[in-house]
Amino acid sequence: MPAQPMRLKPVPLWLSALLVWLGLSLAYATWLLGEQRAATLEAFETQSRIVHRLLTQRAEQHEAILAALIAAELSMGTSSGLFETFAASLQRAYPQVASIERYRKTAQGRWQQIASQPTLPLSDGVLEALPERSGEGSLNVAAAEPGHYRLLRSSQHGSIFALRIASERLLQPEELPPPFMGAELSASDGLLLWQLPVRQSSWTGLAPLLFSKHLGSQSQPFVLTSRQAPLPEQLPWLRLGMASAMLLLVSLLSCWALEQYRQSSIARRQLALAQASRINTMGELAAGIAHELNQPLAAMLANSQALANFIADDPPDLPGAQQAAGNLARQAKRAGAIVHRLRQFMSPHTPQAESVELRGVVEGALGLTRETLRRQQIKVHASLPSGLPPVLGDAIGFEQVLVNLLLNAAEAMGGQPLRRLDVSLTREARSLRLDIADSGPGLSSEAASRLFEPFFTTKQGGLGLGLTICSSIIEQAGGQLSVASSPAGGCLFSVTLPIVMEALD
Ligand code: ADP
Repeated sequence: MPAQPMRLKPVPLWLSALLVWLGLSLAYATWLLGEQRAATLEAFETQSRIVHRLLTQRAEQHEAILAALIAAELSMGTSSGLFETFAASLQRAYPQVASIERYRKTAQGRWQQIASQPTLPLSDGVLEALPERSGEGSLNVAAAEPGHYRLLRSSQHGSIFALRIASERLLQPEELPPPFMGAELSASDGLLLWQLPVRQSSWTGLAPLLFSKHLGSQSQPFVLTSRQAPLPEQLPWLRLGMASAMLLLVSLLSCWALEQYRQSSIARRQLALAQASRINTMGELAAGIAHELNQPLAAMLANSQALANFIADDPPDLPGAQQAAGNLARQAKRAGAIVHRLRQFMSPHTPQAESVELRGVVEGALGLTRETLRRQQIKVHASLPSGLPPVLGDAIGFEQVLVNLLLNAAEAMGGQPLRRLDVSLTREARSLRLDIADSGPGLSSEAASRLFEPFFTTKQGGLGLGLTICSSIIEQAGGQLSVASSPAGGCLFSVTLPIVMEALD
């Protein structure tokens, strides 16, 4: 016969705390990363706009330099000495200007660079392509060496001025974007003028931040593209770690508090259930108890009549009256004791964990059910050896369990030809074992598998809570309640309860 109650295991405290912590940490990390990304994006865009503005300013400077050169030619004439001094002063002020060149057409119609030390001259084709005397600028990127570009402009005097710009000097070291940011400047035909490589991130799954915009210059319509990859070291690990530790603490504390509340509410409910079940049991005990009370009451009546007779005698029989009065008091005490035991059994109380003499409790339960068992002509065979060590738990709770088991057995044997109840108490290594075996019909296979389920009953008007409450009372005391087949063919309920530590050898 299956013996164990079926229970759904509650989720352990550490697991609930872990799940709560994981959920909270995940939510916090998502929020924090979102915040961080928004802040990073804002800083990146600000930085990119600063770089863009600086480069635009530089482009405007180049146009201004060319305008200044043309104006200078007007006032200084075409002398190369004066021009070179002026050009050198401009180059000192603008380090990105690698060279300033001036070209004029010779009598043979060829272009010639006017300089004491000519630099890489431009081809006639390039210079011819410039609209003469128009004063308009022209950009020539391809004709300069790598990393450079040239900006040309013709003057009203037939000269052409050229600025050779070193792109990597457009920004001063202190103006460069931060090291985690990459940037590049390219001409409209895609030719790369300047590049600050971006640091590769190991987090390839995350999209890099991107900024791309034309410089605000008509003569140099370059495109600035900046990038920033999400780098692990930029993430707020410390904040995340600290918040995670805090959340772990909060999860543990809240789960612990919840568990405490759950335990106390379970305990409260169990208490109320046990009380309700005892009151319910009272109904079944009522007839027997009334009978048991009847005996002392009848004896009291007889003794009070005898007392009246002894006093009425002439002369009054004082020794007889004394004896009758004594009997009267003894019977009143006996009735009082029965009522006291009942009140004790019925009264709401908080289960105690105390040292309990199980033998006394069994005798008490047999006493409470004696009349019920006697009326059903059930033969009780009790084997309750004395001198057994005490067990740990709640005496009233144990009594309730035993009364419940005895009444169930009595009820199961109703209508059976053989009605025998064996109650035996034995010692095991570290516990006491109480067996209650009846000669009832035993359990059906359905009853055997659902015996400890709340509200399972086969009785009309039964609550189906008795055995559920019994097993929880016994388990609370660290013991076990199980069921098997009894040798007499009925049920054998066994309760094992741990012996108090101090009593163990
Ligand atoms: P209730 O007594 O209100 O039915 P219990 O939890 O005490 O609730 O018992 C549940 C069911 O277990 C009973 O209805 C009965 O079918 C079965 N049962 C309990 N004890 C015995 C027994 N000694 N012999 C046969 N069946 C039993």
